[in-house]
Amino acid sequence: MPGPTMQAVDAYIVGKLLTPDPALDAALERNTSAGLPAIDVSAAQGKMLHLLARMAGARRILEVGTLGGYSTIWLARALPPGGQLVTLELDPHHAETARANIAAAGLADRVDVRIGPASDTLDAMIAAKEAPFDLVFIDADKEGNVVYLKAALALARPGTTILVDNVVREGGVLDAASDDPMILGTRALFDAVAGEPRLDATAVQTVGAKPWDGFLLAIVNG
Ligand code: SAM
Repeated sequence: MPGPTMQAVDAYIVGKLLTPDPALDAALERNTSAGLPAIDVSAAQGKMLHLLARMAGARRILEVGTLGGYSTIWLARALPPGGQLVTLELDPHHAETARANIAAAGLADRVDVRIGPASDTLDAMIAAKEAPFDLVFIDADKEGNVVYLKAALALARPGTTILVDNVVREGGVLDAASDDPMILGTRALFDAVAGEPRLDATAVQTVGAKPWDGFLLAIVNG
């Protein structure tokens, strides 16, 4: 878990660089009231996702793992007029909570929450030849990471940004003997990215209000 200094630094960063945000605060409150786990990205991480989407000039964003829509709101706010975000969620209660949060944030017109196992929804999207996405954020069950990465590649174009959350697992990613499905899924993701010539990638460790973890960041080569 992050120590008091790391938490204080995160609070300092948020206090200096983020403005008070009633819609995002209300989303977290609704998530708590609805009994959702507090496993959303942190505020500083959400802002980072938002900035990355803007840097990428993303008009179409795909998110795998909605929860209550906290990261969805950060990402959807980066869209230009006419932009669209599709977010995939297994749990209907999470999805309904997210829809309420997204509507309350004034983003319902550009966010499409699709319910079901993400692997099935992604297969259907590929079969339907949906238009390519400019940015993909993968943050669902870690066991599915390689499946989601391959689907993201099938729904990408040269230049698409792919982000994956929770790739450090408090150092657990180093444990080659682990039988933890989340660590196995994370290590398989690194192997898949490392062996994929279409991707140029790195990963950065994160710590702050959330436990020690990390983001993987990749771009689809032209
Ligand atoms: N991105 C969210 C945020 O930062 O606000 C947090 C997402 S949470 C870490 C992971 C979500 O993925 C949960 O809501 C969970 O129900 C969902 N999930 C788990 N397995 C899934 C699957 N097979 N297909 C789609 N969603 C799944």
